[in-house]
Amino acid sequence: MRKITLSLAALFVAAAAAFPAENSMKNHRILSPDGLTYLDVRLDGGRLCYSAGYRTLVKAKKKGAPADTLDVPVLLDSPLGLYTNVADMSKDLEFLKTEDLGTHKNEYRLRGSKQSQVSTEENSRYFLFTNPEAKEQKLALMVGFRVFNNNIAYSYRIFQGQGAETTAIVVTGEASGFRLPADATAFICPQSSPMVGWKRTKPSYEENYIWDKPVTTRSQYGQGWTFPCLFRIPGHPWKSDASGRNGATDSWLLISETGVSGNYCASHLSDATSDGLFTIAFPMQGENNGFGSTGAQMGLADCNISPNDWMTQWTPYRTLTFGPSLKPIVETTVPWDVVEQLYEPSTEYKGSRNTWSWIIWQDASINYDDQVRFIDLAASLGWEGCLIDGGWYENIGRKGMEKLFAYCREKGIRPWVWYNSNGGWNDAPQSARQCMHNPIVRKQEMKWLRDGGVAGIKVDFFGGDKQETMRLYEAILSDANDYGIQVIFHGCTLPRGWEKMYPNYCSSEAVLASENLYFSQGFCEMEARHACLHPFVRNAVASMEYGGTVLQKRLHKEAGKGNTRRTSDVFELATAVVFQSSGQNFALTPRNLTEQPQFEIDFMKGVPTTWDETRFIDGYPGRYVIMARRSGNKWYVAGLNAQEQAVELTIQLPMFDAGSTLTVYGDNEKLEGSMTTTALGKKQQLSVTIPQNGGIVITQ
Ligand code: CA
Repeated sequence: MRKITLSLAALFVAAAAAFPAENSMKNHRILSPDGLTYLDVRLDGGRLCYSAGYRTLVKAKKKGAPADTLDVPVLLDSPLGLYTNVADMSKDLEFLKTEDLGTHKNEYRLRGSKQSQVSTEENSRYFLFTNPEAKEQKLALMVGFRVFNNNIAYSYRIFQGQGAETTAIVVTGEASGFRLPADATAFICPQSSPMVGWKRTKPSYEENYIWDKPVTTRSQYGQGWTFPCLFRIPGHPWKSDASGRNGATDSWLLISETGVSGNYCASHLSDATSDGLFTIAFPMQGENNGFGSTGAQMGLADCNISPNDWMTQWTPYRTLTFGPSLKPIVETTVPWDVVEQLYEPSTEYKGSRNTWSWIIWQDASINYDDQVRFIDLAASLGWEGCLIDGGWYENIGRKGMEKLFAYCREKGIRPWVWYNSNGGWNDAPQSARQCMHNPIVRKQEMKWLRDGGVAGIKVDFFGGDKQETMRLYEAILSDANDYGIQVIFHGCTLPRGWEKMYPNYCSSEAVLASENLYFSQGFCEMEARHACLHPFVRNAVASMEYGGTVLQKRLHKEAGKGNTRRTSDVFELATAVVFQSSGQNFALTPRNLTEQPQFEIDFMKGVPTTWDETRFIDGYPGRYVIMARRSGNKWYVAGLNAQEQAVELTIQLPMFDAGSTLTVYGDNEKLEGSMTTTALGKKQQLSVTIPQNGGIVITQ
């Protein structure tokens, strides 16, 4: 990809001179390598727009004639363009040049996500435009489209022409839009207003989704919607397809962004207009305690692009994942397909299952003795780590922490340590503070952590989505890698391609996570619904540090106190598979060792956190999900049900050999769990029943 853009840079110079500018351009259709995903791009009266969908085979009108193809649109005519401090490049655009870059194959290794070995194939095309304002500065706008099977990604680059004085700009906004059909429905999460919530720590991607609601629904806080955004586009029964399904299949579309580094801000979607148009929205001025620009400061691309600078000169990618089922969405790798690793890992980073006292024992447990108990718990489970949460600086102290680090070494456990990201962007009081915001103290801290054998840090309470804050995320990751330390973010933004970009990046919260079970009975009542949503939305595009698998029935250190969990134990076991994060801070407590059936403890001793493959089997967002993940040679098929009625399905299990003995963790209608074995028949299918708030796990 980079080599191709080099030749295009030179081409622009030639093109600008050689081609008369036009303010319209014929429609260009870009097809995916399998020919089934399409993207249309055209310039109409100086406005650039695009639309997209997939092609399905339809019955020929005449008997015996070959099947025809039918376009199934998922994204209607939507605008493109950039607003900058030197030129408005959303209007009066003049077409200079386009080039079909052909088919490009790529293979890469992805650590700590849903699939370890990824092969992609894409068709890409670049377009070059200028306009009267940009021409004055000798600048041109390049838009690059990459069309994969079931996925589309695009981004912008601003080019300097020969003799241009301007080498730096501020992007103040994007015209990039997403127009949905009028009957589409949305599964989307509102963006919070800034500097509100606990200790003025929002936004942190922890709001309640709307479920299957019209796309024109107004967002709760008037600030639009956070990525990723899932849409259902109802099928159209008047068009029949070759499978005889009358074309009535719903289409699904997931919109997100990836490749956000310190060189840009993170964005979200506006509320939709009355005709279903969402547009890219930049951070709110109030974020980060009002400090820092809402725009993005960029260096411009010239003809002498060095091999490593693509991140500085392309904007982040806007991504669309879609098709006639949820399979492309659950299995998508587009957040990583279009980004590159930004530095080499300094060591071999591994997945980790951690005990975590804070999630049920809360602040009072951040003391030396309780941490010893959770280190012991990790050791007895055969897990890799123990997370020591906020408050350690005053309650345990550095000397006490060093003793705990030594105790971890003795037990064969690696500690993870919590930090406050502040700084000065919100009022979160927990310690350790003032260690991560400044490069001088941060590097000292990283050295102390490395010397203590710490595997990772969990950094909490960030200031929002401004470029200022993206630079902090990147700086923490980069410094941590220098000392062989992994990073989990909490109270934070959605990670956008970071599993690949930053090899020591582990996971992020950016979701209403398990802590809310402790905080609110209302959340306990909704736990299953949320869990059945995440595989299709939040967790489809990035690792999700949920802090799950609560096996205590009541959410409190003391027996008989706290909120009551509504889900079954097997449901909780299944979330260990369904929720993907290479570092898992599970909610098990010392009492689980004596109170839970042995099969539950044994399952948690064996469950992996790193996966080689992920497959969607069945489900509907917020209702139920059945999916499979493979770790090494071992497959785990996991299901969750939030619906009142039981899920009763016969599922195909081609990942297991016919005749093999399967272990099935399941629930009866009273949500009593059991572990049984069954032989898989010749047809490799199994009938499963999952009651409301119940789960299932099938493994070898
Ligand atoms: Ca949180």
